[in-house]
Amino acid sequence: MVSLVPFFALLGLFVGSFLNVCIDRLPRGQSIAYPPSHCAGCHHKLGFFDLIPLVSFLWLKGRCRYCKAAIPVRIPIVEAVTGLLFALLAWKYGLRVELGITLIYASLLLVIFVIDLETTYVMSVTVFPSMIAAFAFSLFWPGIRPLDLPGGPVIDKLASSLMGGVIGFAGMWLPYVIARMVYHREGMGKGDIQLSALVGLMTGFPFVIIAWFLAVISGAIISSALLLFKIKKRTDPIPFGPFIAVAAMVTLLWGQNILTWYLG
Ligand SMILES: [Zn+2]
Repeated sequence: MVSLVPFFALLGLFVGSFLNVCIDRLPRGQSIAYPPSHCAGCHHKLGFFDLIPLVSFLWLKGRCRYCKAAIPVRIPIVEAVTGLLFALLAWKYGLRVELGITLIYASLLLVIFVIDLETTYVMSVTVFPSMIAAFAFSLFWPGIRPLDLPGGPVIDKLASSLMGGVIGFAGMWLPYVIARMVYHREGMGKGDIQLSALVGLMTGFPFVIIAWFLAVISGAIISSALLLFKIKKRTDPIPFGPFIAVAAMVTLLWGQNILTWYLG
């Protein structure tokens, strides 16, 4: 079991490298498969030794081999974070179905997190296909709590996921509508509403409520801190998607522990 962890850490570094490609290209509407990786500055095609996660960045001291343009520091950060996440998931789940599902969810949520941080948009192109996947995965995700409906375990799990999706949607859509009616401004973006619905489909009922609370509370605390320490101004947009994405991951991993703790 222990030997799985370094293997998945390494796998995570390479997946992280691919996630960087998605983060670079999806907001520009470019293909993530073609053309091959190239420098954003000089468009030189990157070779094998330019593409080794973390190592290339350190070896090249953060600069393109060909034109010496600075490589965004986000590149090695995403690689390292993906490696760490994959190691954590392998350590927590071992070779079980939960591992496969959480590896995919962690990758998706990380892409959504970074794109929102960089562009303040949650891309529909990342959310809608994920919704279909999450609905299907709910059949295999043990964290989905059956609602004990008539119709058997399959209907039961799908219903729990769907109910989570509806609650996740409503939980962000209502504040959005209220903010528009009362303050005539848009606090939450449409992308946040879609993302929250996706998280509901992933976590199901009642865990979607935990994810919602975690997102709102962490968002409120960190936004207040950013304003208090004048890192952000009142007029600066603070993307909410990253909070939803992190809350989703925490709920997927420790939702059951949080629920048990809360219920005493
Ligand atoms: Zn270059």
